[in-house]
Amino acid sequence: MTGDGTRVVRAGLPEPAAYEPALPGPVFAAHYHLPGDAVGPYTYGRDGNPTWTRLEQAIGELESPDEAAHTVAFASGMAAITAVLFSQLRAGDTVVLPNDGYQLLPAVRTRLESYDIEVRTAPTAHDAQLDVLDGARLLWIETPSNPGLDVCDIRRLAEAAHARGILVAVDNTLATPLGQRPLDLGADFSVASGTKALTGHGDVLLGYVTTRDAALADSVRLWRKTVGAIPGPMESWLAHRSLATLALRVRQQADGALALAEALRDRPEITGLRHPGLPTDPAHPLAVRQMRPGRFGCVVSFALPDHAHAERFLAALTLVDDATSFGGVRSTAERRARWGGDAVPEGFIRFSVGVEDPADLVADVLAALDSAARNG
Ligand SMILES: *Cc1c(COP(=O)(O)O)cnc(C)c1O
Repeated sequence: MTGDGTRVVRAGLPEPAAYEPALPGPVFAAHYHLPGDAVGPYTYGRDGNPTWTRLEQAIGELESPDEAAHTVAFASGMAAITAVLFSQLRAGDTVVLPNDGYQLLPAVRTRLESYDIEVRTAPTAHDAQLDVLDGARLLWIETPSNPGLDVCDIRRLAEAAHARGILVAVDNTLATPLGQRPLDLGADFSVASGTKALTGHGDVLLGYVTTRDAALADSVRLWRKTVGAIPGPMESWLAHRSLATLALRVRQQADGALALAEALRDRPEITGLRHPGLPTDPAHPLAVRQMRPGRFGCVVSFALPDHAHAERFLAALTLVDDATSFGGVRSTAERRARWGGDAVPEGFIRFSVGVEDPADLVADVLAALDSAARNG
């Protein structure tokens, strides 16, 4: 049994071959030489690509180190999420979504309903989705949730769902497979945006679906081929290259996030401070049980008194970019209500901790808070 740091540097690499690179470069091909009948690993570029294959192998090894799994890579996290939903659900089916998940889920809901799929929602906290499971075909979980950072019990929800014959998918974007392994906790699908912490450099959009069930993988792969939501070879290669530092990044970011959350605890102007790694966080006891030790993610969320106070804070930061997304090596923060999609107060900040030295970051944040309070 190797550790994660060892696993990530070799995940998905071919056997060493003399005079070949460790990670072969991206394969740019719309079609492949194809003699005879149309069978073979690589035929047409929408169906398969060796650069995807290596990345998919790598992600599968991280999401499911101890059991064979199938991964299907996508052009973005949304492409992966919708691939699971639309490949598994039919008119007349019911799906349970969180009501505090990723901001595009309401748009997905409207689309599902237009296809006569019933959508029920419930909050992530307190496993409230349990109460609306009866008769569903698929349960969609997001834990920790973005941006509220609530946590639900994947094993408990999966057991209840499976007892009713319901499939379970977990959005594992925030935790990454090094922070949490939904398949080990009983989920049928682990789905994520690779745009965030998985690739970690803010230069790639990517998504993936991992499952241990070959038939489910086939149906997701057929969806990808049908709608053409395929990742580019260059993006896939960049993602694979980034995986080598995933363990380093995840550890450094989690350490920084915890240091930041601890420094914010005593600030009088802050309310609703959340980080699953913070021992006083309501989600902490459950996070400790189902997430990997010390890897509670890079996001810290909190609210400042109002819109203007939050903007003064963001403008006063010098080491932190005002930008959306999260999980990158450079810290970012944003006033989340500017998008209008999440049920958050006007002064709500979603803070993504990068790999900077935690002491520098904390000092910058505290100075910006002082400045925002002084100039109010
Ligand atoms: C960003 C995000 C997505 C969507 O991923 P894209 O790569 O932007 O399409 C889905 N779920 C969560 C939790 C996210 O943070």
